Amino acid sequence: MRYAELAELYSTLEQTPKRLLKTKAIAEVLVKTPGSEMSTLLLFLEGRIFPISSEEKIGVAAKLVLRAIALATGRTADEIEKHWKKTGDLGMTAEQLLAKKKQATLQHTLLTLQKVFTNIQKLASTEGEGSVDRKIQLIAELLTSATPLEGKYIIRMVLEDLRIGVGEGALRDAIVWAFFGKELGLILNEEKLKLDFADGSREKYNALVKEVQQGYDISNDLGEVAKTLKEKGLQGLNTLKLTTGKPIKVMLFQKAKDMEDAFKTVGTPAAIEYKYDGFRMQVHKKGKDVLIFTRRLDNVTQAFAEIKKVILDHVKAEEVILDCEAVGIDVKNKKYLPFQMISQRIKRKYDIEKMAEKYPVEINVFDLLSYNGKNLLHEPFADRRSIINKIIKAEPGKIIPAHQLVTSDPKQGEKFYKEALRAGLEGVMVKSLTAVYQPGSRVGFGVKVKPTMENLDLVIVGAEWGTGKRAGWLTSFTLACQDDDGNFLSVGKVGTGFKEKEDEEDTENKKEEMEDEKNTKESVTFETMTQLLKPLITKEKGREVFFKPKIIIEVAYEEIQKSPSYESGYALRFPRILRLRDDKPLSEITTLSQVEEYFKEQKK
Ligand code: AMP
Repeated sequence: MRYAELAELYSTLEQTPKRLLKTKAIAEVLVKTPGSEMSTLLLFLEGRIFPISSEEKIGVAAKLVLRAIALATGRTADEIEKHWKKTGDLGMTAEQLLAKKKQATLQHTLLTLQKVFTNIQKLASTEGEGSVDRKIQLIAELLTSATPLEGKYIIRMVLEDLRIGVGEGALRDAIVWAFFGKELGLILNEEKLKLDFADGSREKYNALVKEVQQGYDISNDLGEVAKTLKEKGLQGLNTLKLTTGKPIKVMLFQKAKDMEDAFKTVGTPAAIEYKYDGFRMQVHKKGKDVLIFTRRLDNVTQAFAEIKKVILDHVKAEEVILDCEAVGIDVKNKKYLPFQMISQRIKRKYDIEKMAEKYPVEINVFDLLSYNGKNLLHEPFADRRSIINKIIKAEPGKIIPAHQLVTSDPKQGEKFYKEALRAGLEGVMVKSLTAVYQPGSRVGFGVKVKPTMENLDLVIVGAEWGTGKRAGWLTSFTLACQDDDGNFLSVGKVGTGFKEKEDEEDTENKKEEMEDEKNTKESVTFETMTQLLKPLITKEKGREVFFKPKIIIEVAYEEIQKSPSYESGYALRFPRILRLRDDKPLSEITTLSQVEEYFKEQKK
């Protein structure tokens, strides 16, 4: 496939805000794509070069890209930088400067999808002496063969900032349209923006969407799903397997107002469990091999090396995938520690043993996705839980099945909830006993009940350069939630909860601790935020700065108010930062519908 076809598609997608039109455009390209290129194409459409579960990252900074554009267009780095300041988008800068150059030289070699893919992949594996120059060469080589439009998207891809507004839902639907559109008689009425079907096939369409979604849930790989459909048809989806060692998305939960509301949502009898304030771990065991993934599907096996032994000694199963919450334990009093104390273990690359001693974790197992090679996603929760009880050799402080009560009695439920709060937990989870495990969705199969206002997990999209004693630091951060199509919508600004700077009189010892606790509330300083955000700047206007959405923070607030000042239509009163949420993927930040829901809830 020619890369130009993909660049055209990107351009259409970027200019079309309507999801149905985007889906149609993608489907038309998928129909023509050979099976052998399906995986690459789907990755490109997701804006990534490596599959979700891969540990490899492109990791190229804007400064390097800038030099590559300079090399390919025969301009100086200064000129590129000035141009970039105007466009706020290096992709666009490359496009415009390539256009000027192309008129002069008219040089153009055909770029294939594979060539672009290979060069960008090489960026990740190029290391050591001279690697910066080699990376610049790899990008510049693509740019010299590229049309201006191709150049624009090559650069955005390298920077992992595609801006085409396509979510997984649209890609999944496009796969259904591409492979079943004909037999369904599916027609998109572009004027009314609605789907028409040949008689009665709307239900068939919905069923197919569900089947494709299930294929995606267990493989976590849209490319594999599309390739399978292309080569083996619908039955082929049965060959997709949940594989130990390959993480899948975790099930998410909604919020209930109170116990009564929770019972109403999940039905009775229900399972009520302690809600542990740690972080989510998906543990895969096969024989003597153990792998640990976060909810972002990052592989953190090394950072939690001590857990391998715990799993091998306490889990009686040859092969298993467990869904757990790892909670920090205070070595002195054996009480649970707040999340931020152990969050620093997630990205740890050195002193791992020391950290494991200082901040040991207890694994609370609350779900089971497969057991001895059998996929259990479609089995009722009660059955999954009974296997957990059977195979986990509980040892408090190391590993236990999540503390649970099964009841239909609201009074018993309330009592358990109070007991959880007294024990220092943040609340309870109330779960349906008959529900299946639905990866990646915030379904009502389980709900959380907490006494406090729900904090929001929001992404930082803007800020202001500080003045006076805050000069040189980024301050006043604009926060955004996300709508169903993955657009980021501002919902307020936060400037409090950050420390001015780390206390100067800290002793050496204290300093070491502070280093350990970089992620905790106490040490989220303006300086830390500035360091994290500076490489993500996409545009500056006076003191105003805009970022690629990447840094997620958890914020508390007094109230949600309606407000025309922000894109979401809502604003937060007195927001303050609680912590950085670098364990969360962007896809799991607070959604606009959640903001709306919390807004309504607080009025009751
Ligand atoms: P929240 O992050 O507030 O939406 O709450 C849901 C999270 O609570 C899950 O993603 C888990 O990480 C965590 N959690 C703690 N205990 C449990 C439990 N018993 N069952 C399910 N999730 C739990």
